[in-house]
Amino acid sequence: PRRIVCPLNQIAEQTIVLLKPLAQRRGVSLECLADDNVLGHVDANQIQQVLTNLIVNAIDASDDGGRVTVRVARHDERAVIEVSDAGHGIDNDDIQQVFEPFYTTKPVGEGTGLGLSIVTRIVQEHGGRIDVESEPGVQTTFRIELPVAPTAP
Ligand code: ADP
Ligand code: MG
Repeated sequence: PRRIVCPLNQIAEQTIVLLKPLAQRRGVSLECLADDNVLGHVDANQIQQVLTNLIVNAIDASDDGGRVTVRVARHDERAVIEVSDAGHGIDNDDIQQVFEPFYTTKPVGEGTGLGLSIVTRIVQEHGGRIDVESEPGVQTTFRIELPVAPTAP
């Protein structure tokens, strides 16, 4: 992967612009709450892929009138990216399975079940971690932590 120092908030904003038409067709509002200058040392295309997979899943889980929120913030040496929706949620019995390749609850032809395994691989290759929290019927939040780019001394 080709890594550069790059503001993660900017990658999030660009990804949202690309996914706005899909969200609009589904009647889902898409908002970005991002701090400025959360610098990562990342392959921007791969992080865009991560955000795309998480946001498309969040839109898929949402009903017409739903809202998907992307947050980007810095907590000490970690950049935190969260994608939340108020959609159907994930049963707690199934929650760790969502990261496994080919696990999908979508109809044949609509889901490959590969999105979250790709997300996990990219996040791990960047020295980060991913977690999910869900309250079925209420909300789901995927949370990614990445190391922030080292700053010049
Ligand atoms: P796919 O989207 O092709 O099904 P993914 O790996 O992206 O594959 O996701 C796997 C499964 O995890 C989905 O089929 C769905 O059951 C569940 N999932 C992922 N994101 C969400 C979400 N935001 N809300 C509810 N379920 C989700
Ligand atoms: Mg998916």
